[in-house]
Amino acid sequence: RQHDEMLRKKHKVKVAGTNRPSPLESFAELRSRYNCRRYLVRNLAELGFKEPTPIQRQAIPLLLSGRECFSCAPTGSGKTLAFVLPILMKLKHASKDGVRAVILCPTRELAAQTARECKRLAKGKSFISRADFSKLPCDILISTPFRVHVAIRKRKLDLSRVEYLILDESDKLFELGLVKQVESVVKACSNPAIVRSLFSATLPDSVQELSRSIMHDAVRVVVGTKNS
Ligand code: ADP
Ligand code: MG
Repeated sequence: RQHDEMLRKKHKVKVAGTNRPSPLESFAELRSRYNCRRYLVRNLAELGFKEPTPIQRQAIPLLLSGRECFSCAPTGSGKTLAFVLPILMKLKHASKDGVRAVILCPTRELAAQTARECKRLAKGKSFISRADFSKLPCDILISTPFRVHVAIRKRKLDLSRVEYLILDESDKLFELGLVKQVESVVKACSNPAIVRSLFSATLPDSVQELSRSIMHDAVRVVVGTKNS
């Protein structure tokens, strides 16, 4: 649609792939288009988030419609919310079913930071997000590929019910030589209906390759220039 294209152009969002959902005009659309629960919209307002950032405008509708995406946007552009919000919307309620979303971050510090952001957004709900393995199960596991890989090997972790797998800072995962561990996590997330996505600040060939090796029909979203 022409309107979608104008909105993308205005926010410098480039998107490649088939059947792309319209970008978000505002956070209010989360309710009107996706029936988002009120607590989330309220938490967004309380956090002072008035408008979605460019990457959020396109990545959120993609993940909500179950499309895998490969998103590249500069550091500080709100990528965390772009995947945490749709995950919270889709998981709906806390459950005792075990881990339903996995977010892989290159370092423990980044995992802890992402877990904090997730908790702030989920405030008022009993979702359990964890950046460590001290107590399981949890709804959302946020950790490094290495730690998850070790837990899988020790048979301490069942990832067969994971609905969302996010590789955050996938360019760093590569630089740090974590691809083997990432692949072991991808394999352990055996739910055929899983939605996988990659987020990064740069888009080197290595990351494009990783994206092709773990996703089949991902939509590529780029904000700004590829290697800023
Ligand atoms: P990135 O992962 O792209 O480097 P972050 O997800 O860490 O960026 O977000 C950077 C900062 O922007 C964080 O402090 C986050 O809380 C804030 N932020 C995220 N989304 C919005 C928004 N829609 N409006 C205002 N601030 C936002
Ligand atoms: Mg980030």
